[in-house]
Amino acid sequence: MTRYDDPDSPTVQKKRSHENELPSSSGSSSSDEPSRKKHRRSGSSKKNHSTRKNGDSEVALNGAGAGALKSRRNSLGKAARDPRDEPPKKRRVSIAGEVVPTRSPTPVVDFDGLSRPSRGTRERREENAEQAEARLQKMRGAVRTLLECVGEDPDREGLLDTPSRYAKALLSFTQGYQDSIEDIVNRAVFREGHNEMVIVKDIEVFSLCEHHLVPFTGKMHIGYIPKDNVIGISKLPRIADMFSRRLQIQERLTKEVAHAVMETLKPQGVAVVMEASHLCMVMRGVQKTTATTITSCMLGCFERKSKTRNEFLSLIGVNR
Ligand SMILES: [Zn+2]
Repeated sequence: MTRYDDPDSPTVQKKRSHENELPSSSGSSSSDEPSRKKHRRSGSSKKNHSTRKNGDSEVALNGAGAGALKSRRNSLGKAARDPRDEPPKKRRVSIAGEVVPTRSPTPVVDFDGLSRPSRGTRERREENAEQAEARLQKMRGAVRTLLECVGEDPDREGLLDTPSRYAKALLSFTQGYQDSIEDIVNRAVFREGHNEMVIVKDIEVFSLCEHHLVPFTGKMHIGYIPKDNVIGISKLPRIADMFSRRLQIQERLTKEVAHAVMETLKPQGVAVVMEASHLCMVMRGVQKTTATTITSCMLGCFERKSKTRNEFLSLIGVNR
C-alpha cells in the first residue's frame, strides 16, 4: 500500500519538483497510460520509490499535512457559525481570565457531530413534541400572512390547509438541520486496504437557495481515494442529502460535502462536482432557463495531481 505524504509542505515541494513521478497509487485504475509508464521507468516499483523517501522526512510531512488542511478550511470556517451560538462545554480560560468558548477548527463537523450549527439548529434538533407544535403554529401564521400579502384570501377553500402543508413541506426541505454526520456514518467505515478511486456519480440533489428560498436542483458526483479505509457506499448520497436539505448556496454545499467526507474518512483525497439549475435564475431575474451552474471542490491528491483530477473528471463525464 502506498501512502501519499502531503506535498503541501514547502520541503516536499522542493524535493518533488517532478511530482508526476509519485506513485499515483490509486489514481491508478488507469495505470497503463503510456505517459505514466514512461515516468515510472526508472523506479519501476512503487516500493522502491517510497522506501527511498522513508525516514525523517516522512514524519515532518505528516505534521505539515495537518497544518495544510487547516489552512484550506479557512474559507469555510469564517461564515460557518452563528456567532450567537455558544457551545455548552469545552471552555478554556484566556490569558486575561475571561472565558472563551473553544470551537472546532472545522465547523464542517462540529464537536457534537452537527454541521454549521446555529442557535436555531440546536433548538430544532432538541425540541420536544410541544415545542414542535408551537413551531408549526408559528409557521402556519407566517404562511397565512404571505398568502394575504400576495393578494390571496387565505380563507378560500383551496387555501385552507395550505399554511399547514407548506409549513410541513418547508420543514422537510430543511430536514438536514436535524441530521448529524455521526448518525449518518454510524460506524460504516471499514478497513479494506483499498486504495483505488471510488466514485458515486449522478446523486440527485434538491436544495433551497438561501437568498431567495427557491429550489435549486441538480446532480452531485463524489469521488475519493481511500487510505485503507472505505465508507459504506450509500453514506455518500446521505451526506449529500444532509447538506443539501438546508438553506444553501451551491458553492458552499459542494465544499461542505467534500470537507465532511475528508474529515470523516481521512482519505488521500476527495473530489466533489455539482451541476445544478437554479430556479431563482430560471423563474425570475435573468430568466436563463438552460443555464447550468457547475461547482467543484478538490481536496488532497485531487487538488495536487492533475492526472488524478482528470481521471475523476473523465469518469464522471465532465471532462469531455
Ligand atoms: Zn437564489
